[in-house]
Amino acid sequence: MPATAAEPVRTCVGCRRRAPIRALVRVSRRQGALALGPGPGRGAWLCAGSPECFDRAARGGRLGRALRDQLSDRDLVGLQRELFG
Ligand SMILES: [Zn+2]
Repeated sequence: MPATAAEPVRTCVGCRRRAPIRALVRVSRRQGALALGPGPGRGAWLCAGSPECFDRAARGGRLGRALRDQLSDRDLVGLQRELFG
């Protein structure tokens, strides 16, 4: 049996690729700001280390829809900093 058989898979909200969660980063609203990593509430997934996926998710409003949340420019700038420094 392949080692990947039981590995959870999620869809990147940027490119719609399905990938194992270790290749993705999880975004969720935590204490007012968007944060990375596991946590309570609704999360959205992006390909790790992919500015393209972030851009697509942010610009198209897909990230906000995935989180069922209104994202401000400040949210997105903060998230971009979290992701790419
Ligand atoms: Zn992606």
